[in-house]
Amino acid sequence: MTKNPTELALLARGMDTRLAQALRLAGWTLSKLQQCDVAALEALSIDQPTIARLYKGNRPPIPSEALLQVLFASRWLCCVCREATRPVVVHHIQPWAKSRDHAPANLAVLCTLHHGEAHNQRGLEVTLSVERLLAAKLAWERQVAHMDRLAIHQSTQVQACHWWYFNHLRLFELARASGVDLQRLPGFAEARQHGLCAAIGVVELDERGRSPYNARSAHHLYQYMVQMLSCVLEHTVPQNISDDLDRGTLPALITSGDIIYVQGRHFFSNINSPDPREDLVRAHRSANKVDIHFVFNRHEGTSGSARALWLCGAQTLCSVLQVNRIERADTRYQIYATVLAIRSAHGELKSRLYEGNLLRSGLGFGTVDESEE
Ligand SMILES: [Zn+2]
Ligand SMILES: [Zn+2]
Repeated sequence: MTKNPTELALLARGMDTRLAQALRLAGWTLSKLQQCDVAALEALSIDQPTIARLYKGNRPPIPSEALLQVLFASRWLCCVCREATRPVVVHHIQPWAKSRDHAPANLAVLCTLHHGEAHNQRGLEVTLSVERLLAAKLAWERQVAHMDRLAIHQSTQVQACHWWYFNHLRLFELARASGVDLQRLPGFAEARQHGLCAAIGVVELDERGRSPYNARSAHHLYQYMVQMLSCVLEHTVPQNISDDLDRGTLPALITSGDIIYVQGRHFFSNINSPDPREDLVRAHRSANKVDIHFVFNRHEGTSGSARALWLCGAQTLCSVLQVNRIERADTRYQIYATVLAIRSAHGELKSRLYEGNLLRSGLGFGTVDESEE
């Protein structure tokens, strides 16, 4: 797969994905290739400019972080044709020789056909001009982000979905910071009328420290919180990392403050709290040498069964998290996060449907996802 270090090293030097994969599968590595002479490299169907770059000739390789960011933002697809069957190349929008710029903003993912067009000059006319290329890149990257958000948003609308937990205060703060008019959200008027939230829209815990879902009118509150969460998600670009839980790519893709969506096996364990109004729980999920940690108050569960059944032990769930910090220890990555909400698992989110073609083409992320406990 494209996450293989050898393939990434070859992509960073301008090779297309198909050839990089074929060479890697045939046992080639970057250093083995560098020991070959030009004739031997030509015999492997490597073109002249790439041969020069393999020998560290005219340009340093694209840093792997920038490479992964631009590949991920385009989902390994050409930003012009988005055709999943063609191999892709990472191309410099302003040529490297002129710009010396390896930043993701100057990189575009192009299929071999459109890469040819971007370099091919007919008379004075470049077939795929810098302006057209930039427009195509921005449009496609925006659409990818939108599809991620849409997939998450739609999953919140399906009947079978159930939210087991909301971080009421943090969601309120995020919604306010995004300028959401809480009073206009469906469910607010009813929740307010039944005394389930304050006039400014914040949901307060009762004297036992519980969110008021036991009341008969609690479905209004639930509805109100679902809407509040939707608004928060609409004002950010949440990343569904359920199928990318991989230490090779995650650090390049997420940073503190990002909102991420994680589906899979979660483990919950109790923390003794000195305050009886708190029922603190430590949660964690591990896969592919990435550990995700968060702590929450189970009293904020949305029902009795949420508190007694779903937020206990080992459960396959989705959590919406805001990343606080990422640490690397030995070979593992530790992600410490604040949980915004927890819901029932949803099949389609595990491997985004719209990326089906990409996965089938062998160019996308694999769905490697082995829970380790
Ligand atoms: Zn193309
Ligand atoms: Zn190029």
